[in-house]
Amino acid sequence: MSFSTLQLSESILRAIEDSRYVKPTPVQLKVIPAVIAGKDVMAAAQTGTGKTASFALPLLQRLSMGPKVKSNHVRVLVLTPTRELAVQVEQAVATYGKYLSLKSTVVYGGVKINPQMMKLRGGVDLLVATPGRLLDLYSQNTVKFAQVETLVLDEADRMLDMGFSKEIQKI
Ligand code: AMP
Repeated sequence: MSFSTLQLSESILRAIEDSRYVKPTPVQLKVIPAVIAGKDVMAAAQTGTGKTASFALPLLQRLSMGPKVKSNHVRVLVLTPTRELAVQVEQAVATYGKYLSLKSTVVYGGVKINPQMMKLRGGVDLLVATPGRLLDLYSQNTVKFAQVETLVLDEADRMLDMGFSKEIQKI
């Protein structure tokens, strides 16, 4: 089975080729078609098995077809437990989406909030965030959820282990 059978656009396939991925991993084979079809998905697989691409690729595919994002709005929201994972996920999204004209960015706590507010001003197609900082930005009205199409809880088990359950419920 190759990536070209998975209903991904030429732009995304080209980015996959640049990354030198030869074929989808088992979790990607299952998750990609389900996400493209708009289904809710819960996936469990060990680290290093390509989980990030399994949601990033089909969500980029869906984003490339949808409406334009409004100021301060977000269309896909990805929550991660740590800043390191957030940065890593956003880098993967930028790599897979390099031939698409979509905007992605990352926000996390422990650094100044103002530059992050500036980044959100024009709207963001895909935002990767840690829960606490996202709520801070929301309470200051700089991120709005009215246009959200998809919510991803990356490493949901670890987020609960780290005590983020209240924040996640709130979001
Ligand atoms: P992840 O499990 O999402 O952290 O991905 C682990 C590593 O596998 C990352 O370095 C990815 O770039 C790489 N990767 C993801 N999908 C594939 C694939 N289909 N073929 C080869 N490498 C991949």
